[in-house]
Amino acid sequence: CLSPRLMQLAAWISRGSKVLDVGTDHALLPIYLVQSGRVKSVIAGDVVEGPYQTAQRNVKMAQLESTVDVRLGSGLSIVEPGEVDTVVIAGMGGGTIAEILDEGRDVLACVKDLLLQPMNAAGRLREALQKHGFVIVDEQMVEESGRVYQLIFAQTSTECLVRAQYQHFMDKDQHWLACEFGPLNLSRREEPFVREAVEASRDHFQGILNRLPVEAGDATTLRREEIARHLSEMESWL
Ligand code: SAM
Repeated sequence: CLSPRLMQLAAWISRGSKVLDVGTDHALLPIYLVQSGRVKSVIAGDVVEGPYQTAQRNVKMAQLESTVDVRLGSGLSIVEPGEVDTVVIAGMGGGTIAEILDEGRDVLACVKDLLLQPMNAAGRLREALQKHGFVIVDEQMVEESGRVYQLIFAQTSTECLVRAQYQHFMDKDQHWLACEFGPLNLSRREEPFVREAVEASRDHFQGILNRLPVEAGDATTLRREEIARHLSEMESWL
């Protein structure tokens, strides 16, 4: 049985799709996808020897060596363009996920669905999705072991549709807010995790602002101004 976070990612995967799980670690998701019959085979990759070995061991124990192909290597570099149409990248920093997408442009060009779960820097990741022409079709905030995770389901789209998704927030000077918390999440005002996340971030930034010295150099002044803009975007949404 998968954790709620991995279960939501699995639920977004189309039946019969060609999946790559980047940073698979224990390979729990690929094993579940094949065992549940959602897909016939999966490629599971990890860049670190230890997790790669763990994945291989678990796949062997599940007797799925012929359907879960475990590969050692970084990001999307372990597959050929067209070999997969769906990519899962979960449990890494948003900056790392954005770099993986940047470095794998040739593979990404043939990918239809992206299922992502950044541990942080979700704003940086959503900016990367806009740059690569992916529109967000669903988002969830899922609680697991006392922590709330952002889960993003994005599909390749046109530049026009990608821009349209953020236009409402751009018009209200809330582009940073929309990237950080998600345009769909923010449209679900009744969703308690979204409000809690925005409130927690507001308190975090207010704390930083309170500690920054008023009389300081140019860099501090710029930082104060940036935080004040973030706070204003959050307050206007709250
Ligand atoms: N995806 C699983 C999950 O969400 O439960 C495991 C996440 S685990 C915290 C992160 C894994 O990503 C580690 O096993 C790490 O070795 C791997 N990783 C980090 N950077 C990577 C990269 N550039 N390419 C492939 N794997 C990477």
